[in-house]
Amino acid sequence: MSGLNENGSGPVIRAEKVSKHFGRTAVLKDITLEVHQGEVAVLVGPSGSGKSTFLRCVNRLERIDGGRLWANGELVGYRQVGRRLIERRPVEVTRQRQDVGMVFQRFNLFAHMTALENIMHAPVLLKRMGRAEAKVRAAALLDRVGLGRKAANRPAQLSGGEQQRVAIARALAMQPKLMLFDEPTSALDPELVGEVLDVMRDLATDGMTMLVVTHEMGFATQVADSAFFMDDGRIVESGSPNELFGNPQHERTKAFLSRVR
Ligand code: ADP
Ligand code: MG
Repeated sequence: MSGLNENGSGPVIRAEKVSKHFGRTAVLKDITLEVHQGEVAVLVGPSGSGKSTFLRCVNRLERIDGGRLWANGELVGYRQVGRRLIERRPVEVTRQRQDVGMVFQRFNLFAHMTALENIMHAPVLLKRMGRAEAKVRAAALLDRVGLGRKAANRPAQLSGGEQQRVAIARALAMQPKLMLFDEPTSALDPELVGEVLDVMRDLATDGMTMLVVTHEMGFATQVADSAFFMDDGRIVESGSPNELFGNPQHERTKAFLSRVR
């Protein structure tokens, strides 16, 4: 049973009994899930349940210590040779990571660069793209997130919502096959949340495969194809957003939903 393939079919993310410890604490316990091409999946759950850790495993910011994890048809961090798993070389891990865009709660833009330079940075550095081409692409991405006129602004001259839209454009500049969002609107003033969710909604409509950690139930219900509820390192319950949020089966899911709504 491999379920993986190097030619693009099959799930974009596939986790099979993934586990992860920090010291003696198990933070991911038998996580099994799939996210398919063009789907939006949301991951919800209380603080400390392991959502960020799971996302970080998908692009190998953390390593798993049990189970199997595939992204874009390849084992994350490993190659399979016969029945053996061989650790990938750092250059291969970097190549895998480039296909996975990530947007964090904190925007982490380079403070000394303009919006345009922030977006150009990775393609020039990591893909050896010429500056002229990178600039044209970055400008197009800024237009796409509605910030065409803010190209010359530095992060300090942008609102939180604008900074997060630049962060999304910056991730898209690497032409990822998959986007991970870790509570992208949690640090924003309420009136700025909508503009970021709108950009994410457009991205979903364009067919991007997305795994989103969010407490925005309205967005999740409208945009997501599937929803997973995580508690204490486990996926307790999953289904369509309407099923999971409208008719939760587990006490923990019910308790969580009653708190966030
Ligand atoms: P969530 O994103 O759902 O709030 P996290 O994935 O951030 O949860 O954290 C899950 C658990 O792992 C928490 O108990 C957290 O304290 C712990 N944890 C996260 N990162 C580390 C780390 N680098 N070292 C030790 N413990 C960690
Ligand atoms: Mg988190």
